[in-house]
Amino acid sequence: MAEHVWCHGPNCHTYVTTDRVRGSKGSKVLRTRKVKQWNTASFYNWFCSNGCYNDFANEYIQQIIRIAPRHEPLETRIEDPKKTEHEGWGGRKYYSTEITKIDNESNVG
Ligand SMILES: [Zn+2]
Repeated sequence: MAEHVWCHGPNCHTYVTTDRVRGSKGSKVLRTRKVKQWNTASFYNWFCSNGCYNDFANEYIQQIIRIAPRHEPLETRIEDPKKTEHEGWGGRKYYSTEITKIDNESNVG
């Protein structure tokens, strides 16, 4: 695997920063940043910034959604929520609700 790749942000080369300036005097350009390859599980492996990642997602959102379309909601099993009453300043009551996920591993079937 190459040690660096070009940032995949479609607008990376348009952002005005001194580190993007390349070329010789009289023919300078803003160039797409190089991104160091370090963690294939992270988008930072292909994008120099959150902004460039967002630019990519916004430009290619229709294609991205086709990778894993969702036609049904997902659900996570939980215990019945536990509501607890508390007393705050001046005796004012307030409530908190505890939501606990049910461990899927031990509840298969
Ligand atoms: Zn970039």
